[in-house]
Amino acid sequence: ASTALAATALDALKEAQAVVVEHEETLGKLDAIAGDGDHGIGMRRGVDAAVAAAEKSHAAGAGLEELLAAAGEQWAERAGGTSGALWGAAVTAVGKTLGSKDSYTAADAAAAVNALRDAIVTLGKAEAGDKTMVDALLPFADTFSKAIDDGGSLAASLSAAAEAAAKAADATAELSPKKGRARPLAEKSLGHPDPGAVSFGLIARRVADYAAT
Ligand code: ADP
Ligand code: MG
Ligand code: MG
Repeated sequence: ASTALAATALDALKEAQAVVVEHEETLGKLDAIAGDGDHGIGMRRGVDAAVAAAEKSHAAGAGLEELLAAAGEQWAERAGGTSGALWGAAVTAVGKTLGSKDSYTAADAAAAVNALRDAIVTLGKAEAGDKTMVDALLPFADTFSKAIDDGGSLAASLSAAAEAAAKAADATAELSPKKGRARPLAEKSLGHPDPGAVSFGLIARRVADYAAT
């Protein structure tokens, strides 16, 4: 199996790591409003562990699927929170769907994004409007598959999807939490966006920008 796309996946994880590092404090403060304040540190621990695992896999010559399985497993294990378990499952599912081939089509990319969505929705069981990362994830996946169906390039489709995710993340400020730790503190959460939706939007934007280079 080719390791070329495994290297690209490692780079994409490093982009996610960079944006999490940049926003670690902000995400923690946002989670402290109605949650337990650990979203920044949790995302940081998870993505750091994912990058370390991916680097090790890549050095050992692993293909894409194996690399993302290792990264996802470590993300879930080391993040120690709800969002970490969800991100870990998502990363692993993307690898499982893509496999380790020599080349990929636009349809493969759409299938990968659908797998990412399904992994998070299946594990977390949140619905649209529950005020979770799913509120950014669903518009991301919908926008991406429409853009790909319309013949858009990978980079342009990712960019459109990231924009939809970031907008939807901002819009979660108006929602009242129905899932996760913020639910009992619903009133405090009103007027502030969901931390997991915000981090999803930030990572999507950063990975889309990377794909455009
Ligand atoms: P924890 O809540 O365990 O402290 P984090 O603070 O890292 O974990 O993550 C909180 C985020 O996880 C929330 O802002 C929300 O976006 C997301 N989340 C919580 N529960 C769910 C769920 N059931 N499905 C999807 N996302 C969820
Ligand atoms: Mg938290
Ligand atoms: Mg926590």
